[in-house]
Amino acid sequence: MPAQRILLVEDNELNMELATDLLEAAGFEVIRATSGEEAIALFPRVQPDLVLMDIQMPGVDGLTATRVLKSQEHAASVPIVALTARAMAGEMEMILRAGCDGYISKPIDTREFVQQVRKALANGPKPSADGGEAAS
Ligand code: MN
Repeated sequence: MPAQRILLVEDNELNMELATDLLEAAGFEVIRATSGEEAIALFPRVQPDLVLMDIQMPGVDGLTATRVLKSQEHAASVPIVALTARAMAGEMEMILRAGCDGYISKPIDTREFVQQVRKALANGPKPSADGGEAAS
């Protein structure tokens, strides 16, 4: 069975190295992008099984990149998991509204990270509500 492929989008070098090391040690194939622009451009060629999306990035941030990807037919069915340092209630709502299927809090918990990724892969994308979701 081919390795599952993760598109890892992260502008911080240390976070990138840590996440890559953990994922590769667990047998995942990791393709790296350091900006939202790069993630959007790479996606069709990479065809990842999952996207790990940093939220805070200069230029096209993670929320914008997620909205763009989720609006594209070839990307809509791929789970996108936000990587966020500020897991506050208000931001969670923004993350989910942008189309992310879940989130992983930073700093990365080295003992939990791979398990969190596997769980997100197993869960897959959340059902698309296509604007019909009631936000209270
Ligand atoms: Mn960042």
